[in-house]
Amino acid sequence: MQRREFLGVAAGAAGALALAGCESPPPPIEGGFTGIDVARGHAMRDGALKSSQPATVKRTRVVIAGGGVAGLGAARALRLAGIDDFTLLELEDAAGGNARGGSVNGIACPLGAHYLPVPGDDAREVQDLLEELGLRRRVAGRWEYDEVTLCHSPQERLFFRGEWQDGLLPVHGVGEPTLAQYRQFAQRIDALQHAAHFAIPTLKVAVTPELLALDALTFAGWLDSEGFSDAQLRWYLDYCCRDDYGAGIAQVSAWAGIHYFASRHGFHAPGDPTGSVNDASPERDGILTWPEGNGWLTKQLARPLGERLRTGQVVTRIAEVRGGVEVDAWDAATKSLVRWQAERCIVALPVFIAARVVENPPEVLKTAAAHVRYAPWLVANVHLRGPLADRAGAAPSWDNVIYGTRGLGYVDARHQSLDPTPRGTVLSWYRPLGPSGYDTADGRKLLLERPWTGWRDELLAELSVPHPDLPSLATRIDITRYGHAMSIPRPGLLAQIGPQRTAPDGAHRGSVVAGRLSFAHADWSGYSIFEEAFTRGHVAGTGVAGVAA
Ligand SMILES: Cc1cc2nc3c(=O)[nH]c(=O)nc-3n(C[C@H](O)[C@H](O)[C@H](O)COP(=O)(O)OP(=O)(O)OC[C@H]3O[C@@H](n4cnc5c(N)ncnc54)[C@H](O)[C@@H]3O)c2cc1C
Repeated sequence: MQRREFLGVAAGAAGALALAGCESPPPPIEGGFTGIDVARGHAMRDGALKSSQPATVKRTRVVIAGGGVAGLGAARALRLAGIDDFTLLELEDAAGGNARGGSVNGIACPLGAHYLPVPGDDAREVQDLLEELGLRRRVAGRWEYDEVTLCHSPQERLFFRGEWQDGLLPVHGVGEPTLAQYRQFAQRIDALQHAAHFAIPTLKVAVTPELLALDALTFAGWLDSEGFSDAQLRWYLDYCCRDDYGAGIAQVSAWAGIHYFASRHGFHAPGDPTGSVNDASPERDGILTWPEGNGWLTKQLARPLGERLRTGQVVTRIAEVRGGVEVDAWDAATKSLVRWQAERCIVALPVFIAARVVENPPEVLKTAAAHVRYAPWLVANVHLRGPLADRAGAAPSWDNVIYGTRGLGYVDARHQSLDPTPRGTVLSWYRPLGPSGYDTADGRKLLLERPWTGWRDELLAELSVPHPDLPSLATRIDITRYGHAMSIPRPGLLAQIGPQRTAPDGAHRGSVVAGRLSFAHADWSGYSIFEEAFTRGHVAGTGVAGVAA
């Protein structure tokens, strides 16, 4: 245990004792692993579910394999195009993939993805979805987003040098050289935004030589070459990369590091007259969030599917056969193999799984699987039986980050509540495990081998520094592990699997197609966010509907 962690635990214990006074000590914190069925996925990997003889053979027009955001987006596109005869097969007992919601002691919380930035005009498909869900509407000629869903103020704060400050960019007590680098970085991003189109979703733009040049370098290497050496600026940029990509600035490409800012609201230094990263305005920096995170969105997408959504179905084989496709799925309830015969299949699986289950995988899939590397992640949901005391500084926010820690801080599931009464809540602590300055060990091995109590102790050590009373208020910690959470946009990945792999025109425009298989998953964008996954699913569904019509 490092000194800071030890001090954190000690501070937590001291706080707990002080709070408890003469009362009896709080009951021990319960908890364990939840969310993902690791054994089911590994049984598929080890071939334990393979069988040549299906117990049942069924027919459907289109099979969608995988019920994450991409698979659900594809299902919606088929429905909207009038194709109702399709079946979506999902391994887990609920759809949603990395964007599922859950609850601890009755309080809703995210198990994975927790927010969606207000989409820009390149993400027209996501805008349409939000309009359909009643979250976006035109009022007096302007687009407005649902007030209840827009993240309530205050949005973000940082525990830095012993107190909370507004926003995540370290500003308290930093010197002029740091502020000067913030301004220079803002100017550089502004210039790059004018020089190239950093689109979300990426499939909307061609990969230009400017983008490929950035894709060839690490972000850290690019920062070095540009003279961005300031420790606070680099901490912040590293934090952003770990937050969006699960790995640090030394691992992700300069394209990815710059895309983070240039594709959205840019980078705004403190004192910038157009605003700053520390003063979020709904128009520019607005984000949509729900107590159960993006689980709210995936639930809405799954709702109209009815019986067409089949959960507990582990796809073990996808094969093109004469005149169609065969998809074998192991049914977890009946413990038997079902063979689906269809005209086409939308493969909305992570590419490393797709490469395993697709028979004679096409070159495009082999290339993607050979180049994608995944960041493992962990999300811990902590139930608190009462409100936390707070340290000096900025008020409790939706996103609360502690400077210099391995975890990314926590979001408060009650932040969106309209009831101001202080009471118990659930905090979701996010811990990326891809390579970074904080982690050199094999994160996936650690995820498999470390007992839940090890994560409990790491969480308590980090969060007790700003909240010494947290250990005495925590009643339960539920931990969700993601061995292959998201593709790390490493140097060269854009060149290998970028938009040039997508069909440029015709019915399949924008989707990755090989024969009767259409591929849709955030992995095909090289990095993982809702907009990428959803649009990939949408174009795959639209393409299939176009040729099936
Ligand atoms: C911890 C965490 C936090 C995140 N936070 C955010 C956030 O706040 N905002 C954001 O925009 N994005 C976030 N993301 C990114 C998130 O991954 C994407 O937004 C999106 O959910 C990806 O969807 P997908 O469909 O591409 O992939 P997945 O979610 O990987 O979906 C693939 C689906 O296929 C299923 N599957 C796998 N194997 C099989 C099989 N053999 N048979 C049948 N089904 C199978 C899986 O169970 C899963 O449901 C986060 C990701 C993680 C892990």
